[in-house]
Amino acid sequence: MLKIENYINGELVAPIDQQYLDNINPATGQVYSLIPDSNAGDVEKAVKAAKDAFPDWSTCGIDTRAKLLNKIADLIDQNLEELALAESIDNGKPLSLAKSVDIPRASSNFRFYASGIQHFASEAHFMEGTAINYTKRSAVGVAGCISPWNLPLYLFSWKIAPALAAGNTVVAKPTEVTPMTAYLLSKICIEAGLPNGVLNIVHGLGHKAGQAIVEHKDVPLISFTGGTETGKKLAATAAPMFKKLSLELGGKNPNIIFADCDFDDMLKTTIRSSFANQGQICLCGSRIFIERPIYEKFKKAFVEKVEKMHVGDPLDANTKMGAVVSEPHMNKVLGYIKLAQEEGGTILCGGNQVSLQGDCAGGFFIAPTVIEGLDYQCRTNQEEIFGPVVTLTPFDSEEEVLTMANATAYGLAATIWTQDLKRAHRVAHQVKSGIVWVNCWLLRDLRTPFGGMKQSGVGREGGFEALRFFTEPQNVCIKL
Ligand code: NDP
Repeated sequence: MLKIENYINGELVAPIDQQYLDNINPATGQVYSLIPDSNAGDVEKAVKAAKDAFPDWSTCGIDTRAKLLNKIADLIDQNLEELALAESIDNGKPLSLAKSVDIPRASSNFRFYASGIQHFASEAHFMEGTAINYTKRSAVGVAGCISPWNLPLYLFSWKIAPALAAGNTVVAKPTEVTPMTAYLLSKICIEAGLPNGVLNIVHGLGHKAGQAIVEHKDVPLISFTGGTETGKKLAATAAPMFKKLSLELGGKNPNIIFADCDFDDMLKTTIRSSFANQGQICLCGSRIFIERPIYEKFKKAFVEKVEKMHVGDPLDANTKMGAVVSEPHMNKVLGYIKLAQEEGGTILCGGNQVSLQGDCAGGFFIAPTVIEGLDYQCRTNQEEIFGPVVTLTPFDSEEEVLTMANATAYGLAATIWTQDLKRAHRVAHQVKSGIVWVNCWLLRDLRTPFGGMKQSGVGREGGFEALRFFTEPQNVCIKL
C-alpha cells in the first residue's frame, strides 16, 4: 500500500516515529494509502529546514522566485489528469469537478502570485519640505500554512503561493483527511528544482502536527483555513506569542432571491451554489431566502431539479454529486438532518444516506436535501452543516430578509438575486459578509479581498492582501 511521505528539506522522508494513519477513499470506505502521523519532532525538522533556507530564498530576487512558482504551475498543468484523479479519490468529489476547478485553480494560484509579486509595490509618503517616508516590506520568516479537506490542493496552494512569492519559507500541513495532492505537490516541487527547505510539508493530525506548527517559536506567522472552533484554538495559542494570524473560517451563507430575478439563471446557479462539491464549499449558500410571490414556484422547480441530481461514483462522468468526505462527516450531516426534523422542518427531498452498488457499496453518500418550515433562529439555520443540505425560507420585505440573513455568528459570503440595480447595491451594503455575489456565484477574481466578517475569520486573502499579510512593513523616515 502506498505510504505518503513528508517533504522536508527537499526530500521525501518517513515520519521519525514511523507511525502512520489510514487514508480512506470516501467513495468506497476502503483504506487505500497510509499517511505519516507526524509529531513535534517532524515539525522541528521542517522548521529548522525552513529557517535555514530563509536567508537565501528571501534575498534571491523576485524574478527567481516567480520563475520557480511558474515552473510549479506548469508541472501542475502537465499532471492535471493524475492530480485530478488523486483529488477525486481522496475527497470523494466528482472527477469532472477536480479536473475543471480544483487542479486548474491550484496552478492559477502559483501563476497568479508569480505575477503578483512582480507588481507589488510599497508606498512612499512625502511630508512637504520636511521628510520622505517609504515603507519597506520584507518577508517575515517561516510561515505556517494549515488547510482543510474540502478543496485540498486549491486551498493549500492559495496559502503557499503568496507566502513563497513574498520570500517566506513555509512549513505546511494539509489535513490528514485529504493528504494525497499535497504529497504529489511535494514531488512536483522537487522536479521544479525548488531549493531545499523552501517548502516543507508535514502530514498528520491537526491537534498534534498542526498544533506543533502553531506553537513553534520560530514560526512567526500562521495562515489557517478551517472551522471556526479550530480557529479559536489556534488564536488562543498564537495570540500570546504575538504571531501574525490569518484565519479563514466557517460560514452559513444566505442566498437571497427577489421576485424580480432572472428566474432560470437564478435556478441553475442556485443548484450549484447549494450542492457543488456536495455542499462542502465554505461559500455554498445553505440558507435560501425567497421572496414570497415566487416561493411556491421556486420550491417546485428547485426540488424537481434536485431530485434529478445523480449521486454516484465520483469517477463516473455522469455523477453530479459524489461522496461526502468521511464517515464521521456523513454522520454529522445526517445528524443535522434529524435535528431539522426535530426542530419542525419538513424534508422536501433527500434527507437520507444513499447506498450504491459495486465498488461504492461502502461509500459515504448523502442525497441532496432540501428542507422548509424552519425558524431562521433554530440551530439548523444557525450552525454550519457543510454538506448537501439547504433550507428554504420565504420573506416579505428587504428589512425582514436582512434581519434573517445577518442573524448568524458567521459572515463569509452572500448571494443576491434581483434585476433592480439600486436594490442590489442597497442590500449588498447591508449584508454582513466579506463577499457578496449579485446575480452570480463563485465568480472569482483572484485580485479581490477574500475572507469573512464576524466569526468567519480575521484578515483577508487574495491579491495584494495576502502579500501584505506575508510581509512585515517597516517605515523609514528621512529628513530632507
Ligand atoms: P478543521 O478546522 O477541522 O481543520 C482545518 C485544518 O486545521 C486541518 O488541517 C486540521 O488538521 C488542522 N487542525 C485541527 N486542529 C488543529 C490545531 N489544534 N492546531 C493546528 N491545526 C489544527 O476544518 P475542516 O478540515 O473540517 O474543514 C472544514 C471547515 O473549513 C469548515 O468550517 C469550512 O467552512 C472551513 N473552510 C473555510 C474556508 C474559508 O475560506 N473561509 C474555505 C474552506 C473551508 P486535521 O484535519 O488533520 O486534524
